[in-house]
Amino acid sequence: MRLGEFELTPLLDGYIRLDGGAMFGVVPKPLWEKRAPADDRNRITLAMRPLLVAAEGRLLIIDAGLGDKTDAKFNDLYGVDRAEHLDGSLAHAGVTVPQIDLVLATHLHFDHAGGCTSRTADGTLRPRFPNARYLVNGGEWEDATHPHERNRASYLVENFVPLVDAGVVDFTRDDQQILSGIRVARSGGHTRCHQIVYLESHGRTAVFTADLIPTTAHVDEPWIMGYDLYPMETLAFKRAFVREAIDREYLIFFEHDPQVAAGYIRETNGRKRVEAIA
Ligand SMILES: [Zn+2]
Repeated sequence: MRLGEFELTPLLDGYIRLDGGAMFGVVPKPLWEKRAPADDRNRITLAMRPLLVAAEGRLLIIDAGLGDKTDAKFNDLYGVDRAEHLDGSLAHAGVTVPQIDLVLATHLHFDHAGGCTSRTADGTLRPRFPNARYLVNGGEWEDATHPHERNRASYLVENFVPLVDAGVVDFTRDDQQILSGIRVARSGGHTRCHQIVYLESHGRTAVFTADLIPTTAHVDEPWIMGYDLYPMETLAFKRAFVREAIDREYLIFFEHDPQVAAGYIRETNGRKRVEAIA
Protein backbone atom coordinates (compact mmCIF):
# COMPACT_ATOMS: atom_id res chain seq x y z
CA MET A 1 0.00 0.00 0.00
CA ARG A 2 1.08 3.54 -0.69
CA LEU A 3 1.90 6.07 2.04
CA GLY A 4 3.18 9.26 0.43
CA GLU A 5 6.58 8.35 -1.02
CA PHE A 6 6.69 4.95 0.64
CA GLU A 7 5.41 1.63 -0.62
CA LEU A 8 4.54 -0.51 2.42
CA THR A 9 3.98 -4.27 2.16
CA PRO A 10 3.16 -6.44 5.19
CA LEU A 11 5.03 -9.75 4.88
CA LEU A 12 4.30 -13.05 6.63
CA ASP A 13 6.76 -15.47 8.22
CA GLY A 14 4.12 -17.90 9.34
CA TYR A 15 2.47 -18.42 12.72
CA ILE A 16 3.41 -19.40 16.24
CA ARG A 17 1.30 -20.26 19.27
CA LEU A 18 1.94 -18.66 22.64
CA ASP A 19 0.24 -19.14 25.99
CA GLY A 20 -2.96 -17.08 25.95
CA GLY A 21 -2.62 -16.08 29.59
CA ALA A 22 0.92 -14.81 29.00
CA MET A 23 -0.27 -12.85 25.96
CA PHE A 24 -2.90 -10.93 27.93
CA GLY A 25 -1.33 -10.48 31.37
CA VAL A 26 -3.93 -9.59 34.01
CA VAL A 27 -6.94 -9.96 31.68
CA PRO A 28 -9.02 -13.03 32.72
CA LYS A 29 -9.44 -15.84 30.21
CA PRO A 30 -13.24 -15.49 29.83
CA LEU A 31 -12.53 -12.04 28.37
CA TRP A 32 -9.49 -12.76 26.20
CA GLU A 33 -10.73 -16.03 24.75
CA LYS A 34 -13.55 -14.14 23.03
CA ARG A 35 -10.94 -12.20 21.08
CA ALA A 36 -8.37 -14.97 20.72
CA PRO A 37 -9.60 -18.57 21.12
CA ALA A 38 -7.18 -20.96 22.87
CA ASP A 39 -6.18 -24.44 21.68
CA ASP A 40 -6.07 -27.54 23.92
CA ARG A 41 -2.71 -26.38 25.34
CA ASN A 42 -4.11 -22.90 26.14
CA ARG A 43 -2.16 -21.34 23.27
CA ILE A 44 -3.39 -18.65 20.88
CA THR A 45 -2.26 -18.18 17.30
CA LEU A 46 -0.04 -15.25 16.41
CA ALA A 47 1.27 -14.20 13.02
CA MET A 48 4.76 -12.87 12.36
CA ARG A 49 4.48 -9.99 9.94
CA PRO A 50 7.68 -8.11 9.12
CA LEU A 51 7.06 -4.95 7.08
CA LEU A 52 8.71 -4.28 3.73
CA VAL A 53 9.34 -0.59 3.04
CA ALA A 54 10.45 0.76 -0.34
CA ALA A 55 11.87 4.25 0.24
CA GLU A 56 14.24 6.40 -1.81
CA GLY A 57 15.05 3.46 -4.06
CA ARG A 58 16.10 1.37 -1.06
CA LEU A 59 14.45 -1.70 0.42
CA LEU A 60 14.11 -1.91 4.18
CA ILE A 61 12.47 -4.63 6.23
CA ILE A 62 11.35 -4.08 9.79
CA ASP A 63 11.94 -7.29 11.76
CA ALA A 64 12.65 -10.62 10.11
CA GLY A 65 10.24 -13.15 11.61
CA LEU A 66 11.18 -16.46 13.21
CA GLY A 67 13.38 -17.86 10.42
CA ASP A 68 14.07 -21.53 9.77
CA LYS A 69 16.69 -22.55 12.37
CA THR A 70 14.30 -23.85 15.04
CA ASP A 71 14.31 -27.57 15.95
CA ALA A 72 11.45 -30.07 16.33
CA LYS A 73 11.14 -29.56 20.10
CA PHE A 74 10.85 -25.79 19.70
CA ASN A 75 8.40 -26.15 16.81
CA ASP A 76 6.16 -28.38 18.92
CA LEU A 77 6.31 -26.15 22.01
CA TYR A 78 5.43 -23.03 20.01
CA GLY A 79 3.17 -24.65 17.40
CA VAL A 80 5.32 -23.25 14.59
CA ASP A 81 3.55 -23.13 11.23
CA ARG A 82 5.73 -21.75 8.45
CA ALA A 83 3.79 -23.18 5.53
CA GLU A 84 3.82 -19.55 4.49
CA HIS A 85 7.17 -17.88 5.15
CA LEU A 86 9.23 -14.77 4.56
CA ASP A 87 10.97 -15.89 1.35
CA GLY A 88 7.58 -16.71 -0.16
CA SER A 89 6.01 -13.42 0.80
CA LEU A 90 9.04 -11.46 -0.42
CA ALA A 91 8.80 -13.30 -3.75
CA HIS A 92 5.11 -12.49 -3.85
CA ALA A 93 6.08 -8.82 -3.43
CA GLY A 94 8.55 -9.17 -6.33
CA VAL A 95 11.62 -8.90 -4.09
CA THR A 96 14.55 -11.29 -3.67
CA VAL A 97 16.50 -11.76 -0.42
CA PRO A 98 19.74 -10.23 -1.81
CA GLN A 99 17.87 -7.05 -2.78
CA ILE A 100 17.18 -6.08 0.84
CA ASP A 101 19.40 -3.12 1.83
CA LEU A 102 18.46 -2.64 5.47
CA VAL A 103 17.02 -4.79 8.23
CA LEU A 104 15.69 -2.82 11.21
CA ALA A 105 15.07 -4.75 14.45
CA THR A 106 12.42 -3.52 16.89
CA HIS A 107 14.05 -5.82 19.48
CA LEU A 108 15.92 -9.14 19.39
CA HIS A 109 13.37 -11.71 20.63
CA PHE A 110 13.33 -14.89 18.52
CA ASP A 111 9.98 -14.18 16.83
CA HIS A 112 11.38 -10.88 15.52
CA ALA A 113 15.09 -11.58 14.93
CA GLY A 114 15.14 -15.31 14.13
CA GLY A 115 15.02 -14.55 10.42
CA CYS A 116 18.10 -12.30 10.63
CA THR A 117 20.44 -15.29 10.25
CA SER A 118 20.38 -18.64 8.49
CA ARG A 119 22.42 -21.82 8.67
CA THR A 120 24.40 -23.02 5.66
CA ALA A 121 24.61 -26.71 4.68
CA ASP A 122 27.84 -27.11 6.70
CA GLY A 123 26.19 -25.63 9.80
CA THR A 124 27.75 -22.17 9.64
CA LEU A 125 25.56 -19.26 10.74
CA ARG A 126 25.52 -16.26 8.45
CA PRO A 127 23.46 -13.13 7.84
CA ARG A 128 20.26 -14.16 6.05
CA PHE A 129 20.23 -10.99 3.90
CA PRO A 130 23.69 -11.02 2.28
CA ASN A 131 23.72 -7.40 1.10
CA ALA A 132 21.99 -5.77 4.05
CA ARG A 133 23.16 -3.66 6.96
CA TYR A 134 21.33 -4.54 10.16
CA LEU A 135 20.19 -1.77 12.50
CA VAL A 136 19.94 -2.72 16.18
CA ASN A 137 19.38 -0.48 19.20
CA GLY A 138 22.61 -0.46 21.25
CA GLY A 139 20.82 -0.94 24.58
CA GLU A 140 18.77 -3.82 23.20
CA TRP A 141 22.03 -5.44 22.07
CA GLU A 142 23.47 -5.05 25.58
CA ASP A 143 20.42 -6.70 27.14
CA ALA A 144 20.21 -9.48 24.54
CA THR A 145 23.84 -10.42 25.10
CA HIS A 146 23.54 -10.22 28.92
CA PRO A 147 20.24 -12.01 29.55
CA HIS A 148 18.82 -12.88 32.96
CA GLU A 149 16.49 -15.65 34.13
CA ARG A 150 13.35 -13.76 33.07
CA ASN A 151 14.31 -13.03 29.42
CA ARG A 152 16.89 -15.73 28.60
CA ALA A 153 14.45 -17.98 26.68
CA SER A 154 13.59 -15.13 24.29
CA TYR A 155 17.16 -14.19 23.30
CA LEU A 156 18.80 -16.89 21.18
CA VAL A 157 22.37 -15.91 20.36
CA GLU A 158 22.38 -17.65 16.96
CA ASN A 159 19.87 -15.02 15.78
CA PHE A 160 22.09 -11.98 16.29
CA VAL A 161 25.71 -12.68 17.37
CA PRO A 162 26.66 -13.93 13.85
CA LEU A 163 25.64 -10.51 12.51
CA VAL A 164 28.28 -8.71 14.57
CA ASP A 165 30.81 -11.43 13.74
CA ALA A 166 30.12 -10.68 10.06
CA GLY A 167 30.49 -6.93 10.65
CA VAL A 168 27.07 -6.05 9.28
CA VAL A 169 25.47 -4.39 12.35
CA ASP A 170 25.07 -0.65 12.87
CA PHE A 171 24.03 0.20 16.41
CA THR A 172 21.38 2.86 16.74
CA ARG A 173 20.50 5.25 19.55
CA ASP A 174 17.04 5.73 21.02
CA ASP A 175 14.76 7.85 18.82
CA GLN A 176 17.10 7.97 15.87
CA GLN A 177 16.23 8.81 12.27
CA ILE A 178 16.87 5.80 10.01
CA LEU A 179 16.09 7.23 6.55
CA SER A 180 14.29 10.37 5.46
CA GLY A 181 10.79 10.13 7.03
CA ILE A 182 11.62 6.96 8.95
CA ARG A 183 12.53 7.03 12.64
CA VAL A 184 12.51 4.74 15.63
CA ALA A 185 10.97 5.68 18.98
CA ARG A 186 11.93 3.84 22.15
CA SER A 187 8.79 2.62 23.90
CA GLY A 188 10.48 0.44 26.52
CA GLY A 189 7.90 -1.76 28.27
CA HIS A 190 8.23 -5.09 26.47
CA THR A 191 12.01 -4.87 26.76
CA ARG A 192 14.03 -1.99 28.21
CA CYS A 193 14.89 -0.66 24.73
CA HIS A 194 11.98 -1.99 22.65
CA GLN A 195 11.26 0.44 19.83
CA ILE A 196 8.44 1.20 17.43
CA VAL A 197 8.93 2.65 13.94
CA TYR A 198 7.33 5.83 12.54
CA LEU A 199 7.03 6.25 8.77
CA GLU A 200 6.03 9.78 7.76
CA SER A 201 5.48 11.06 4.25
CA HIS A 202 3.38 13.82 2.67
CA GLY A 203 1.57 14.52 5.95
CA ARG A 204 0.60 10.91 6.55
CA THR A 205 1.96 8.65 9.27
CA ALA A 206 2.17 4.89 9.57
CA VAL A 207 3.54 3.16 12.65
CA PHE A 208 4.90 -0.33 13.08
CA THR A 209 4.06 -0.95 16.74
CA ALA A 210 5.80 -4.34 17.17
CA ASP A 211 5.15 -5.67 20.70
CA LEU A 212 3.71 -2.41 22.05
CA ILE A 213 0.38 -3.36 20.38
CA PRO A 214 1.06 -6.85 19.01
CA THR A 215 -2.54 -7.57 17.94
CA THR A 216 -5.76 -5.62 17.55
CA ALA A 217 -6.85 -7.19 20.89
CA HIS A 218 -4.06 -5.23 22.63
CA VAL A 219 -5.31 -1.73 21.81
CA ASP A 220 -7.19 -1.36 25.12
CA GLU A 221 -4.97 -0.10 27.92
CA PRO A 222 -4.98 -3.03 30.39
CA TRP A 223 -4.47 -5.63 27.66
CA ILE A 224 -0.72 -5.90 28.19
CA MET A 225 1.40 -9.01 27.73
CA GLY A 226 2.61 -10.90 30.78
CA TYR A 227 5.88 -11.20 28.87
CA ASP A 228 6.54 -7.46 29.21
CA LEU A 229 9.46 -6.76 31.54
CA TYR A 230 8.18 -3.26 32.40
CA PRO A 231 4.39 -3.35 32.05
CA MET A 232 3.84 0.09 33.63
CA GLU A 233 6.06 1.58 30.91
CA THR A 234 3.94 -0.21 28.31
CA LEU A 235 0.80 1.24 29.89
CA ALA A 236 2.08 4.83 29.94
CA PHE A 237 3.53 4.72 26.43
CA LYS A 238 0.49 2.98 24.96
CA ARG A 239 -1.98 5.38 26.59
CA ALA A 240 -0.28 8.40 25.00
CA PHE A 241 0.40 6.63 21.72
CA VAL A 242 -3.15 5.35 21.15
CA ARG A 243 -4.55 8.85 21.81
CA GLU A 244 -2.12 10.25 19.24
CA ALA A 245 -2.92 7.45 16.76
CA ILE A 246 -6.66 8.11 16.95
CA ASP A 247 -6.38 11.90 16.76
CA ARG A 248 -3.86 11.92 13.89
CA GLU A 249 -5.27 8.88 12.04
CA TYR A 250 -2.08 6.84 12.04
CA LEU A 251 -2.07 3.72 9.92
CA ILE A 252 -1.02 0.99 12.38
CA PHE A 253 0.78 -2.23 11.44
CA PHE A 254 0.03 -5.12 13.83
CA GLU A 255 2.99 -7.49 13.71
CA HIS A 256 1.37 -10.45 15.49
CA ASP A 257 -2.33 -10.23 14.64
CA PRO A 258 -3.42 -13.48 12.95
CA GLN A 259 -6.03 -11.70 10.80
CA VAL A 260 -5.33 -7.97 10.57
CA ALA A 261 -2.02 -6.72 9.20
CA ALA A 262 -2.91 -3.02 9.22
CA GLY A 263 -5.69 -0.64 10.16
CA TYR A 264 -6.81 2.56 11.82
CA ILE A 265 -7.77 2.84 15.49
CA ARG A 266 -11.18 4.53 15.71
CA GLU A 267 -13.04 5.68 18.78
CA THR A 268 -16.80 5.99 19.13
CA ASN A 269 -18.47 6.86 22.46
CA GLY A 270 -15.23 6.05 24.30
CA ARG A 271 -14.95 2.58 22.74
CA LYS A 272 -11.92 1.81 20.64
CA ARG A 273 -11.95 -0.52 17.66
CA VAL A 274 -9.73 -1.18 14.68
CA GLU A 275 -10.85 -0.52 11.15
CA ALA A 276 -8.88 -3.11 9.21
CA ILE A 277 -7.50 -2.23 5.81
CA ALA A 278 -5.25 -5.25 5.25
ZN1 LIG B 1 6.84 -10.57 19.53
